[in-house]
Amino acid sequence: MVYKRKRHWVTYHSEKCKMYLRNDFKFECAYCGMKEKDNVMGEQLFEKDHFVSRQSDVDVDGYNNMVYACRKCNGTKSNQNIEMILDPCKDDIYGGQNPHIRKSGAEDYYKLRGVTSQGQQLIDSLKLNSRFYRKMRQAQAQNEKIRKMIYQLLGESPNLKSPEIAGEIKAYLNNGTLINEESEEFRCGVSKVGEEVYTVLEKLKEKGIKYKLLFMDDDLDVRVEYCGKIYYCEIRVTDYAGMKKRGPVVEREKKKEWQKTGNVCGVLYYYKVQDIMNLYIYSEEEQTEIVKLW
Ligand SMILES: [Zn+2]
Repeated sequence: MVYKRKRHWVTYHSEKCKMYLRNDFKFECAYCGMKEKDNVMGEQLFEKDHFVSRQSDVDVDGYNNMVYACRKCNGTKSNQNIEMILDPCKDDIYGGQNPHIRKSGAEDYYKLRGVTSQGQQLIDSLKLNSRFYRKMRQAQAQNEKIRKMIYQLLGESPNLKSPEIAGEIKAYLNNGTLINEESEEFRCGVSKVGEEVYTVLEKLKEKGIKYKLLFMDDDLDVRVEYCGKIYYCEIRVTDYAGMKKRGPVVEREKKKEWQKTGNVCGVLYYYKVQDIMNLYIYSEEEQTEIVKLW
């Protein structure tokens, strides 16, 4: 798989950075392929990695230099100052017609083999054939096998007429938890900002406002249906205890991108202290329309 980053306006230091990375990198480490669903710690074992750590022509802290990586890979990479040759957002490291690295199964202790010199460099520099990674791949293979077997059982069992039960089991198998991957709980995880975004979504649900989590380009996180209108919004949470007349600051370039979509876009701004939710919509004339949700 070649990973694709969406266009996000966050940097390494932004609270939402990790949340976006998780989605763009499919909840897995771009270097070793460890998946959140295959370990009990889930998101907590994963970090934001600077792909290039020092280079004058690269915005080092920019989102386009960020990679979702497991703690182990990120640690090795930064401790040893490894500069990567293969880029998981440009090179299909493990897949495609000509993978750089091939995986073996139980017959060869779950070792990796570098097909190309770049692939071998990745294996050697991150020590991807060490015991830790081989055990991880073994666990992954076992989980995958068990998932397939249970899917088969589900399909063959004449007694299992309840689609709810089958659905729950499938969700469990897919995610390693009883939470469906599509659900916001899973997607936002347990980080502070994840919690905050989740709080906003919970509130929307509570108030009977329809929404769908999207994580689109340009930080448009959610689609909200309110009073018969559809809004595409960036979610922000604030501790600020006043009320902003002009709304939160949005980069001019980002607003331009929003306008290009042809949708009504804005910031869904949750004032945590007062429990108020405002939707700020920006027009070209810099007029701000405020929709008070509650
Ligand atoms: Zn890793």
